[in-house]
Amino acid sequence: MAKPRVATTSLCGCFGCHMSFLDIDERILQLVELIDFDRSPINDFKEIQGPVEIGLVEGGCANEENVKVLEEFRRNCKVLISMGDCAINGGIPALRNMVSLKDCYREAFLDGPTVYNPAGKVPDDVEIPLLLDKVYPCHEVVKIDYHLPGCPPSADTLWEALTALLAGKPLNLSYELVKYD
Ligand code: SF4
Repeated sequence: MAKPRVATTSLCGCFGCHMSFLDIDERILQLVELIDFDRSPINDFKEIQGPVEIGLVEGGCANEENVKVLEEFRRNCKVLISMGDCAINGGIPALRNMVSLKDCYREAFLDGPTVYNPAGKVPDDVEIPLLLDKVYPCHEVVKIDYHLPGCPPSADTLWEALTALLAGKPLNLSYELVKYD
């Protein structure tokens, strides 16, 4: 029987949530007995390959490419999980929401203290995804089924959540796995 497939991606995140996922250590051997990976940094697939049981999304949406990838995940993932605080509330990148997009560009490319830009031009190559007006948490863009908080969520939290969902059990994480004080 075909194994369920799991996909992961990083939108506007730092890959720290993925690193935490890898911290499940030797349990990854158990995991690959249970699942096949679809798009993920493990196999470096650049596109989601098809319908999957579970999608894990790190990072919020800061640009049009993030939105496209998130919408693809929503279309293809039976269960979609926001993994970590950036996916849930925008995280550190959302600090830019306090200033206008125009001021962000000005600081980053024109007036910032470390900027060297004699041409005085903001990069506008068509290959560069357009920034959104602000950084959006994933659930403001598509429906999200579960939120796993933390910066990052611990490996144990990710393991417990994933194995429960794969076993068709309700997600009932203990207080220790979701407390951050
Ligand atoms: S939640 Fe923390 S670890 Fe995860 S992507 Fe954001 S900054 Fe990185």
